[in-house]
Amino acid sequence: MVKSVEINAHAKINLALDVISRREDGYHELRMIMQQIELHDVLYIEEIEAGNISISCSNPNIPVDASNLVYKSWKLMSNLYKVDNGIRIHIDKHIPVAAGLAGGSADAAAVLKGLNTLWNMGLTNQELMDIAVNIGADVPYCIMGKTALAEGIGEKLTAIQKMKETHILLAKPPIDVSTAQVYKSLDLDNIKRHPDIEGLIKYINSNYQKELASNMVNVLETVTAKKYPIIEKIKLEMMRFGALGSMMSGSGPSVFGIFDDYENMSRCKNDLERWAGKVIMTKTI
Ligand code: ATP
Repeated sequence: MVKSVEINAHAKINLALDVISRREDGYHELRMIMQQIELHDVLYIEEIEAGNISISCSNPNIPVDASNLVYKSWKLMSNLYKVDNGIRIHIDKHIPVAAGLAGGSADAAAVLKGLNTLWNMGLTNQELMDIAVNIGADVPYCIMGKTALAEGIGEKLTAIQKMKETHILLAKPPIDVSTAQVYKSLDLDNIKRHPDIEGLIKYINSNYQKELASNMVNVLETVTAKKYPIIEKIKLEMMRFGALGSMMSGSGPSVFGIFDDYENMSRCKNDLERWAGKVIMTKTI
């Protein structure tokens, strides 16, 4: 009998991203508001005879060897729980890669959840999050989902009231951005505007969509948007088409816009598709 599970791995955007300090170990102390969106990869996980793993992905540019984060998830779970069945994983990729949308982390989280089900391990979400931190700083959030405050290097999580469902337009310009390089280039002493995280959380709690959207700040824009003018151009275009607010997600280069009107979003998509790279209409979940 074939045992298999199918699981969705959702992308995230940052409604705020602040860098507090650089730590001795080279990592940065962060404060971020994370929001999960409908856009997702689909993972098919199937048990096979041999005690090994085989990975495939619909996007040929993604490595399918031990450097894929889903491999790390499998390795950790099988070592921790001494399961020696083999696994086949197929990733149907929809989340733009290296885009600031945590695509790899979402897949890793989905595999932890999937194996928990497939192997009847009965782990709680908290237990899965404790395992997830060994894979990457964003992976525990990808297990938790919804709306959350992330601190530390992103692994200290506090749930916030779930944001009201909102239209999101995403644009991923055709630029490759290295997250490590962005943090390296960040000049902490010259950041002029930091997000008011507490204020933004109040807006989320009160459903003040417009105030939230117009006060979002991502300090990493001082590096990525400065280097690539197309990011500011996309933000301005989203505002021109009626977005309540627009900002870069993570270390970029993806830009998102919050829209309260579907028609405006749709018109903006048609416009951006001509010059801004990959454009996707989605929503918060
Ligand atoms: P973050 O927002 O967490 O910084 P990101 O969205 O910028 O992440 P990813 O899409 O996770 O970036 O990809 C970063 C790199 O990780 C890719 O260049 C890819 O080679 C590698 N990678 C490993 N596993 C995966 C995976 N399952 N999906 C996508 N990329 C993966």
